[in-house]
Amino acid sequence: MAEFTMELNDDQKQVRDWIHGFAADVMRPAAAEWDEREETPWPVIQEAAKVGIYSLDFYAQQFFDPTGLGIPMAMEELFWGDAGIALSIVGTGLAAIGVVANGTEEQIGTWIPQMYGTPDDVKVAAFCSSEPDAGSDVGSMRTRAVYDQAKDEWVLNGTKTWATNGGIANVHIVVAVVDPELGTKGHASFIVPPGTPGLSQGQKFKKHGIRASHTAEVVLEDVRIPGNCLLGGKEKLDERLARARERARSGGGERVKNAAMATFEASRPAVGAMAVGTARAAYEVALDYAKTRTQFGRPIIDNQGVAFQLADMRTQIDAARLLVWRASWMAVAGRPFESAEGSMSKLFASEVSKKVTAQAVQILGGNGYTREYPVERMHRDSAIYTIFEGTSEIQRLVIARTISGMPIR
Ligand SMILES: Cc1cc2nc3c(=O)[nH]c(=O)nc-3n(C[C@H](O)[C@H](O)[C@H](O)COP(=O)(O)OP(=O)(O)OC[C@H]3O[C@@H](n4cnc5c(N)ncnc54)[C@H](O)[C@@H]3O)c2cc1C
Repeated sequence: MAEFTMELNDDQKQVRDWIHGFAADVMRPAAAEWDEREETPWPVIQEAAKVGIYSLDFYAQQFFDPTGLGIPMAMEELFWGDAGIALSIVGTGLAAIGVVANGTEEQIGTWIPQMYGTPDDVKVAAFCSSEPDAGSDVGSMRTRAVYDQAKDEWVLNGTKTWATNGGIANVHIVVAVVDPELGTKGHASFIVPPGTPGLSQGQKFKKHGIRASHTAEVVLEDVRIPGNCLLGGKEKLDERLARARERARSGGGERVKNAAMATFEASRPAVGAMAVGTARAAYEVALDYAKTRTQFGRPIIDNQGVAFQLADMRTQIDAARLLVWRASWMAVAGRPFESAEGSMSKLFASEVSKKVTAQAVQILGGNGYTREYPVERMHRDSAIYTIFEGTSEIQRLVIARTISGMPIR
C-alpha cells in the first residue's frame, strides 16, 4: 500500500507545469481579444492541437493517472489561463468522453478522430442534451429518435439548446427519447455525422461570460442517421430498455436511476476544478494588485480589511481544491460517493469561484470594474460554474437526498 501523501509526484508536476506554460504564454495573452470578439478562438485551439493539449490522447493520459488528479490538475491550469478559451478546448472532450464511455470500439475509432480533426485542420464536437423545456429536469426531454427498421436508420426530431459548439461542430452527440414511457431510462445517445441534412444551428447566444466559447441551439428536422450511429449499438439498447421495463413493472427502478446518477457525479469534480482555476487566477491578480496599489501612503494590503479578504479567498480556494481532489481520487479508486462527494466538490468550488472573483473586483476598485484588468472578465466567466453540469440548487438536492435517503424536492 502506497504511503499517504498530498504531494504531486514528479510526473504530475511536469505535466502541470507544461499545461501552465501553455495557459500563461498562449491563452492568457489571447483572452481579452476572444472575449470581445465572442467567437471560437480557432487559432488558439490549433496551437493547443499542435502541442498535444487538444487531443483525445491528452485526456486519456490524464484520465488514467492512477491518483485521479490528472484531469482536475489539467482543468485547473487551463481555466486559470482563460475560461472561455479553455471551454472551447475542452468542450470537444466532453462529447468525446460520451463516445468513449458508451460507444463500441468501432464507434470510438471512427468518430473520435473526426471530432478533433488534425492540427492543420482542427474540428470541434458538441454534446447536445439540454432543451428549452428540459434543463435541470432532464426527464422532460422531447427530442425523439425513431427507428426506421426498413432502412436501418434512426430519425431525430427536436430542438436542443445551450449546446457548447452546437452547429459549428463536425460531430454532434445528441441525447434523445427512444421510449417516452420510461422517462430518463428511455433516453439514448446518437452520433450525428458531419454534414448530415436536417441538423442546423439555431440562435447563437450572446453571453455574460465565457464568451469565447460558442453556445447555440441545435435544430433537428428529420435528421436521418445510419443505425450504427446509436451509441453502444441496438442490441445493447434493446437489452437496457427491456431491463428498465421489467424494473418498472416490478417497481424496482431505483437501481437504474442510481447508476445514472453515479455517472454524472463522477464528471462533476472536473467542473469544480475549472472553477478553482478561475478563482485562483482572480485571487493572484488581486494579491499582486493589493501589494502594489498605494492609498493613504501605504499598500492597500497593509489594511486588515483587504488582507483578511485575501486570506479568506486563498483558504476557500484551497478548500475547494481539496474537495475536488478527494472526489476525483474516490472516483478513480472506485469508492462510492456515499455522501454525494462529487456534487459537494462542484457545489463548493463553483460558489467559491463566484465569490472570490467578486472579491477580486472589489480589491481592484475602479480598475477591477474595467476591461483594462482581467478580473472583470473572470468574474463574468465564473458565473457559469453554478449553472452548467447541474446548478447549485440541483447539487444541493443531490447531496440532501443522498445524505438523508429522503425524496427531498
Ligand atoms: C454557457 C452554457 C453552456 C452549456 N453547455 C451545454 C452543453 O454543451 N450541452 C448541454 O446539453 N447543455 C449545456 N448547457 C445547459 C446547462 O446544463 C443548463 O443550463 C443547466 O442544466 C440548467 O438548466 P436551465 O438553464 O434550463 O435552468 P432551469 O432548469 O430552468 O433552472 C432555473 C433555476 O431553477 C432552479 N431549479 C430548477 N429545478 C429546481 C429544483 N428542483 N429545486 C430547486 N431549484 C431548482 C435552478 O437551480 C435554476 O436556479 C449549457 C448552459 C450554458 C449557460
